[in-house]
Amino acid sequence: MSNQAFEAVIGLEVHAELLTATKIFCSCSTAFGAEPNTQCCPICMGYPGAMPRLNRRAVELAIRAGLALGCEIAEVSQTDRKQYFYPDLPKAYQISQDESPLCKNGFLTVSTKEGTRRVAISRIHIEEDAGKLIHRGAHTFVDCNRCGVPLIEIVSAPDLRSPEEASAYLRKLRSILLTCGISDCRMQEGSLRCDVNISLRPFGSETFGVRTEIKNLNSFAFVEKAIAYEIARQTEALLQGNVPIPETRRFDAAAGKTYPMRAKETSVDYRFLPEPDLPPIWVSEEDIERLRTTLPELPDARALRLAQAYGLTVYDASVLVSEPQLADFFEAGAGKTDYPKLLVNLLLSELLRHCASDPFSSPVSASRLAELSQLMGEGTVNSATAKKLLLRLLDGDLDPRLTVKREGLAQVRDREQLLTLAERAMEEQPRAVTDYRNGKSAALRALQGKVMALSGGRADPILLESIFLELLSPHSDETR
Ligand SMILES: [Zn+2]
Repeated sequence: MSNQAFEAVIGLEVHAELLTATKIFCSCSTAFGAEPNTQCCPICMGYPGAMPRLNRRAVELAIRAGLALGCEIAEVSQTDRKQYFYPDLPKAYQISQDESPLCKNGFLTVSTKEGTRRVAISRIHIEEDAGKLIHRGAHTFVDCNRCGVPLIEIVSAPDLRSPEEASAYLRKLRSILLTCGISDCRMQEGSLRCDVNISLRPFGSETFGVRTEIKNLNSFAFVEKAIAYEIARQTEALLQGNVPIPETRRFDAAAGKTYPMRAKETSVDYRFLPEPDLPPIWVSEEDIERLRTTLPELPDARALRLAQAYGLTVYDASVLVSEPQLADFFEAGAGKTDYPKLLVNLLLSELLRHCASDPFSSPVSASRLAELSQLMGEGTVNSATAKKLLLRLLDGDLDPRLTVKREGLAQVRDREQLLTLAERAMEEQPRAVTDYRNGKSAALRALQGKVMALSGGRADPILLESIFLELLSPHSDETR
């Protein structure tokens, strides 16, 4: 199915739960995972007569997000009631912001293989979350613990053009929110989720096509898959002369498809009206400047600094800052090794592979990983031994340098010693020698493996390879 006929026009609405201890209009806890309906009160359940009171910290975190994303912060904004008729928000409306959001006109720069794009952020507003519906057999239960948890909704302009860009935008946004301590962005717990608006138009056209909205995507992979599916589906419809219906769709991850949920709401359906129980939100110039000074170094700046200071590739630096804890871990170790690039490799390729589920609770400290990179970089151990030592560090702390000394794990770099072992390997594996000389270059690996086994895995692989290449070269019989 071709998707080259049309250009995709994609905008994202991202909901992020704010990292406050209490809810946005009451003092109930926002902690995740409590027994159902143990963290709610008349205010967040919308009992008649209960009066909301705005959580100052939630407003500050929202402004912080706005500043990190280059937004203008409104000195005065207001809250509005949005009609909401589902049982997971018993008061039947959601307090949000309609025409006067707290932040607007920001941007985010995303990079993909296709290049770099500046994506406009139309607005960021605060609102309350709804509760959860739990379906068991024929029954549906309501858990109101999440009612009133503070959210920001970050709305991008329809500036994204591909599934990869949408995913890159979401990753970048996540790393900024994490770096600034605005949200914990735990997608699996729903504290970061994403609605995608998508339409197609002929290349070169400036007008928008009919868009559909895919609701509540909670992983980067789902965002990419749902958009790719929707592009293919809409392309097929358009090529057959049909116009897609404006509708809200859901993504079924198991099927990898989107399905219609309901006709798309329009703003008329929301029946916004100014929230009568809350005064306007006033933010002074001083407040804004004070919050601006508390912003940490942002991911792009940090990636640039790490790349320059430690000679890392742009890719490695960007992977580090995408997860601020990863960058912190790296920086904690980087000063303790002369080989920061090896440290990055050990961190990103080895440590993460062994504890992908939760790398930050790993027992391996940044200093220990730095010591390993130092041992590798200075040639004391080869990478195979370093990896074995890392496995042992995962089981319990040990001093890598002492262990190498005590257990004789140092790399064999003595040329004569390796030469003897190489000759022995060739004698024991004449078939591999013949194969190699007949053009099967892969046979070299069998010989190298033999020497590795003979040396207890300690041979210097680079020196060993050069020795074999000499021994196996067509002229070696004459010269030796
Ligand atoms: Zn409450």
